[in-house]
Amino acid sequence: MQQLVTGIHHITAMCNGSQRNIDFYCGILGLRLVKKTVNFDAPDVYHFYYGDESGAPGSIITFFPFEGIIKGRRGKGMLNTTTFSVPVASLDYWQQRLQRFSVNAKPPQERFGQETFIYFEDPDGLGLELVLNDNDTRPPFSYGHIPLEHSIRGFFSAEIWEEGYEKTAELLTGQMDHTLISQHENRYRFAATNTPGNYVDVLCSPDALKGLSGGGTVHHIAFATPDHDTQTAVRTRLMGQSINPTPILDRSYFTSIYFREPGGVLFEIATSGPGFAIDETPEHLGEALRLPPQYEPMRAELLASLPAVSVNIEQFR
Ligand code: ZN
Repeated sequence: MQQLVTGIHHITAMCNGSQRNIDFYCGILGLRLVKKTVNFDAPDVYHFYYGDESGAPGSIITFFPFEGIIKGRRGKGMLNTTTFSVPVASLDYWQQRLQRFSVNAKPPQERFGQETFIYFEDPDGLGLELVLNDNDTRPPFSYGHIPLEHSIRGFFSAEIWEEGYEKTAELLTGQMDHTLISQHENRYRFAATNTPGNYVDVLCSPDALKGLSGGGTVHHIAFATPDHDTQTAVRTRLMGQSINPTPILDRSYFTSIYFREPGGVLFEIATSGPGFAIDETPEHLGEALRLPPQYEPMRAELLASLPAVSVNIEQFR
């Protein structure tokens, strides 16, 4: 039977302040701003997509910058840490780079007895990690100014804290084509495809406080499905299990369904295509404000109210 869910597509978070967000993700981490659009459900708010050169699924972190939003709190029922993949030999480079830009990284730690990582937070307090591994065959991000031997390869994993792991595990393995691939103490690692970029770590954390959404917290995680037919099939499968997904929604660059998993995290399943080059050329991704047809008549008004932003990576060399 065809696999309907293949891995992680993107992760979307909320932040306070637009330019600071661009400076951190493009400037310090060296991601490419591949799309500058608006929140399709609230067009007075930007939606920034960052990723590799093309914004390939599995490389995309996106933000809704709500000016003045109150800071959220990490906790259970939430995706608390997003981990990117870099080569083992890049540890010194990244430690020095983060320090140079006053990003406070914790000392290296180990997970599963083999995986070294450093934890740090973005300016809004969003939990991030760089995991060091040489098993990632994806090409390095080559846009921007990070030397290729050190640049990010994409996501490695995402960490979700739950009251209990069983129901989420059942959803992932029963309806979403994931398998349990490792477990240590309270950490259960699942993957739809057993490669870096697709690991979902469910942490059974009954003692944690409940997460509160706000600035510096994740809004949802999207999983990838190949196309419209597989998306329809997975939607039907979810409905058969009393999960109530939204209708298929057009997000221009993919189509999506959304639903809450049993622990409270908002899940999305997004098609792998058509991708970000449908409304601007690959060379100019992210440069101009792109709007879906329904908001095009509001362009002048939106441009006047959204804060002016730019990608200035020179100061982060
Ligand atoms: Zn999304």
